Amino acid sequence: MKKHYGESLAWLAVLLVIFIGAWQLIAGFYQRQVLDQQQTYLEKKGSLLMHMAELNGGGDSLKDLSQHYVTSSDERITLLAADGAILFDTYDPSLEGTRSDRPEIKTLLQGGKLGVSLRQSDTLNKELLYVAIPVMTDGQLSNIIRIAEPTATFMAEAGSVRQSIFFVYSVLCLLITFLVLYFLRQKNRPIEKILPVLKKMATQPQKTELIMQTSPQWQELYQTINQLSEQLSQTYQAYTATENQLHTLLNELMIGVFILDEEQQLVMINPTMQEQLGITGMLSLPTEFASVIKDPGLIQLIYRINKHQPVLQEELRLKLPEEKVLDINLRLFNEQKQLMGISYDLTRVRQLEKMQKDFVSNVSHELKTPVTSLIGFTETLLAGAMHDPKITEEFLVIMQKDAQRLQRLIQDIIQLSKTEAELQYELQPIELPTLFQQLKDSYRQLLAEKQVTLTLTGSEPTYWLTNREFFYPIIKNLVENAIQYSPKNSQVKLSWRLTAADQLEVTVRDQGLGIDQDDQERIFERFYRVDKARARHSGGTGLGLAIVKDYTEKLGGTLHLTSHPQVGSTFSVAFPKLTK
Ligand code: ADP
Repeated sequence: MKKHYGESLAWLAVLLVIFIGAWQLIAGFYQRQVLDQQQTYLEKKGSLLMHMAELNGGGDSLKDLSQHYVTSSDERITLLAADGAILFDTYDPSLEGTRSDRPEIKTLLQGGKLGVSLRQSDTLNKELLYVAIPVMTDGQLSNIIRIAEPTATFMAEAGSVRQSIFFVYSVLCLLITFLVLYFLRQKNRPIEKILPVLKKMATQPQKTELIMQTSPQWQELYQTINQLSEQLSQTYQAYTATENQLHTLLNELMIGVFILDEEQQLVMINPTMQEQLGITGMLSLPTEFASVIKDPGLIQLIYRINKHQPVLQEELRLKLPEEKVLDINLRLFNEQKQLMGISYDLTRVRQLEKMQKDFVSNVSHELKTPVTSLIGFTETLLAGAMHDPKITEEFLVIMQKDAQRLQRLIQDIIQLSKTEAELQYELQPIELPTLFQQLKDSYRQLLAEKQVTLTLTGSEPTYWLTNREFFYPIIKNLVENAIQYSPKNSQVKLSWRLTAADQLEVTVRDQGLGIDQDDQERIFERFYRVDKARARHSGGTGLGLAIVKDYTEKLGGTLHLTSHPQVGSTFSVAFPKLTK
């Protein structure tokens, strides 16, 4: 807006200069006209005087006529000789001397037909208009008549006319000024209307700005701006919505994402990426990427990427408190100015792969022992030992044990490798006292061999709604281990109760070997055994507790172990109530 005032002021200044200049010209021209007119008038008057003097007989008659004439006017008439000497002057009859040096006289002396001069009179001390006319006798200059009139006399009259002209001129100037300012305002009006709207559109693009149409002249322009504003606000809103969706997506994404700008400033990092890189606390972005990403492997990878190699992929092992395996993909985009990093957390996948590998190698190892033993015994028998009935029987007993161990191993592996979908997940009410009694009966021989007593205690609940395929192996493995790892003449107690949290808690307590603290953490791993030789000897597969843990989790239960070496172990499993 200030700019427009400035423009108006500049125009006013230019107009003022033009008006003053023009006035100077007009005033000068007018004065010139007045002087010319007066000069002609004086010239004609001089000629008339001369003519009249001639008619009256010359010489003194001119003097008398002049004298008579000037009494009724301000004019001064001087009669000069042919050389410029004063003969007579109406203002001062006693005036003498020459006026040959005066410009108007000089002109005549040099042969001119008329001498005119506007100057200050030394005698009268006034500005006078002098007109000198030659008096010719026989073609020769005989006298000069000079008529002078104070400019003040005729200029005073001309002044009032000049005032009128000035008045009209001023009115004209004002009109022109008004018109110029009006057109300037008209010219600037759309800018004044549109500029604030455009500024608002730039600062608040989400809002629709409207120009109220006041002038039909700019209507189309205003309508276009209104349309533009509406389109901009719609586009901006659509853009904001898309950006919000993208942010939500990035925040929820299970893939880590980060973006670096061309100055390698970190401009975006999603929560998953922060978690994968072990970054805690609030980040103020943008920030130097090296202040956030500390892993040397990833930093190296970021430095390696360039326009010749705009895509990089690498699996990195990060040494955070716990080791993480990340599959990092880096890509330059946006004309190679920005860098996007995408990261998949492969830690669990790699762990599972390792577990699978370990499991396969453990299974092979476990299978190898009884199979080697079976082959060894059969070969010995076939080589001739079968003819000795005693050795044959002895060998067959060992071979039967190996075969049974193989069978158990295979059963356990099958059980462990069965997925939930494969197992029938049907809930059925199980009568607990009956089930525990059946279990006890199935171990009658082993209990007798080891002289171990198994007591069952518990009254409530009698029935429990659960899945038998999961529930039975849990209890069976715990009871079998308790008997297996108990010394002779000891007791194993199986008890059950309903807890305050409405859960079924089954506890198996023995007075056996016990398990020390370090081993307690590992015995639920597949094939882990505290005393390998002893466990194998007892016929254990090393998978029992792994099955217990797996199935307890499948039933949503929790497992608890308290054990002291040489005192005994207590395994408790709490099962939450399941509903059909
Ligand atoms: P296994 O078939 O060898 O018994 P488990 O997975 O059932 O395999 O048990 C793993 C290991 O935990 C056993 O080898 C044994 O060393 C130890 N263990 C399990 N139960 C008991 C227990 N009640 N008392 C002492 N040690 C036990």
